Amino acid sequence: MSNTAPAQFDIIGDVHGCLDELIALLKKLGYSLDEEKAVISKVPHNRTLVFVGDLVDRGPDSPGVLRLVMDAVLHGKALSVCGNHDDKLKRKLQGKDVQITHGLDTTLEQLRDASPQFRGQIISFIDQLPYYLVLDQGRLVICHAGIQKKYIGQQSPKIKAFCLYGRSLGTDEKGYPIRYDWAQDYDGQALVVYGHTVIKDSGFINNTINLDTGCVFGGQLTALRYPEREIVSVPANQLYYPN
Ligand code: MN
Repeated sequence: MSNTAPAQFDIIGDVHGCLDELIALLKKLGYSLDEEKAVISKVPHNRTLVFVGDLVDRGPDSPGVLRLVMDAVLHGKALSVCGNHDDKLKRKLQGKDVQITHGLDTTLEQLRDASPQFRGQIISFIDQLPYYLVLDQGRLVICHAGIQKKYIGQQSPKIKAFCLYGRSLGTDEKGYPIRYDWAQDYDGQALVVYGHTVIKDSGFINNTINLDTGCVFGGQLTALRYPEREIVSVPANQLYYPN
């Protein structure tokens, strides 16, 4: 999963269909956009965009976010790992039996009039996303929910499940999962950048950083500039989905 892209990255947290905020954040990071088509027209010199997954669900324009990110990945401007919401959308579009919960209904509604061709493109796009990426000669790892040091460089269904969902220790009184806080136990050399668990502000814990600052819940959309380790955010325009 290593690649030879230049080792300067702008890593974006969970977008969840928040297209306007994604565009605002990309502009703040120095990217140029073709506004009419809502695709990236120019990338800052030697930089690559990286998404931590969960491009879709809950927010106002998941198809628009997919279009932008799919175009950027196709043209070598971006990389992305798969998030649990992306994976579930793919399985639903493939006709598998999945529960229409946690905002998948909003995406399906937005895709109601989508062509079979676009649906097919979404399936193939999500299907080829890795569940983690190792970049900058092993110094940087990108995943959705988390990873453990011993997993880096390995592939297995168990590791895939950990990268997509983390590990649940049970559920709380509201039925939400109590998540194993892997970052507290992480002692690897590689910086791990991830999302999945909503936090108020991003910060470094044991050489890890969570970029999910809950844009779709009225928080912020956050990016990490790497190797600068600079955090760049834009506020949500509104609360799109109550939690
Ligand atoms: Mn998420």
